Amino acid sequence: MKTKSFLTGMLIVLLSAIVARADAQNAKFTPQAFYSYDASGKITGYNLPALPYAYNALQPSIDSLTVSIHYDKHHRGYFTKFTGLVKDNNLEGKTLDEIFKNMSKYPDALRNNAGGLYNHTLYWENMGPAIGARPTGALAEAINKQFGSFDKFKEQFSNAAKNKFGSGWAWLILSADNTLKVTSTSNQDNPLMDVVDQKGAPLLALDVWEHAYYLKYQNKRGDYVDAFWNIVNWDEVARRYANAMKH
Ligand code: MN
Repeated sequence: MKTKSFLTGMLIVLLSAIVARADAQNAKFTPQAFYSYDASGKITGYNLPALPYAYNALQPSIDSLTVSIHYDKHHRGYFTKFTGLVKDNNLEGKTLDEIFKNMSKYPDALRNNAGGLYNHTLYWENMGPAIGARPTGALAEAINKQFGSFDKFKEQFSNAAKNKFGSGWAWLILSADNTLKVTSTSNQDNPLMDVVDQKGAPLLALDVWEHAYYLKYQNKRGDYVDAFWNIVNWDEVARRYANAMKH
């Protein structure tokens, strides 16, 4: 009896370790800061990742008040609603990668709030006080190869952002065939969701909802998009590119 329960105990430990490793593998495109883990590495909860800089770090491209309201009210709001919806839908312990892959099976409220939580985290992290920086290394080469030049890529991405009708996002993604693509999504959809046409690993995200720019730019979305290029954190985009090439 003792041996049996010992073996059962060992089996449970072993299975937990396998499940925990699966959790980590299923978070390919999600910042680790999203998740809380127990000692075995299993996901036990979700976090709102901290804003990676001060509210005024993106000035003059994006003003402090816009950043503070956008992060503390909008982004936090998506996070709070997401944690409730995860419970309601019995999805505790799932990674966002897994939820997005099966998005069509879940209610629209989860689609909007899981997307809102994830997209904003990417957006904050792919910006920083990096005036006029440009991509370097393998990412720069891939951009030149795919779009002809960095300026041509910028133009294509800017057009996607400026021409997106209504609320949504512009993206640079790495698609499954390892080519770079510029895309856009509506509302809080993103390229990891099974419900979008153009899927891939998100490398660069730009929020074009009015709440992202209206206080400073009012109706001039184009000026906000042009200013975005002054504050892109290309090191983070390059890190995502290297990670996506591995998967
Ligand atoms: Mn937003």
